[in-house]
Amino acid sequence: MSSSAELKKAGLKTTLPRLKILSMLENASIRHMTAEDVYKSLLDSGEEIGLATVYRVLTQFENAGLVIRHNFEGGRSVFELNDEGHHDHLVCMECGDVFEFYDKAIEERQQKVADESGFVLDNHSLYMYGVCEGIRKNGKCSINKRKLPSILTTSKRR
Ligand SMILES: [Zn+2]
Ligand SMILES: [Zn+2]
Repeated sequence: MSSSAELKKAGLKTTLPRLKILSMLENASIRHMTAEDVYKSLLDSGEEIGLATVYRVLTQFENAGLVIRHNFEGGRSVFELNDEGHHDHLVCMECGDVFEFYDKAIEERQQKVADESGFVLDNHSLYMYGVCEGIRKNGKCSINKRKLPSILTTSKRR
């Protein structure tokens, strides 16, 4: 689907900033980005869209269900496209890297906890904070090396 068809489907009018930001998110090599990251990569590709506009558009995308916002500890918010199934996140407190994982046992366990309390689960998010492998071993961000920990490469994106 083209970016403009996707906007339409989400009930948003096609505007240039929306188109640019959506196609940037779709083509970015990094999946979890702060508004500043989005702003900077647009600048890098010669698109001058103000940071305030980037924030506004990302919030519109969030409300329309196109992106998911994660509010991490320390006040950092990242956005990712809402284009894959449920997954949870490992967040590096040193470099800010974000890794996705899906663990069937954890998911089932959470569902069981809810069931046992007679609780109807709508959604959940699990964030695990720590230090990534890259920082731990080389003092460098793992994402730059584009290598995911083995646990993540085995849990296929759905
Ligand atoms: Zn989960
Ligand atoms: Zn994610």
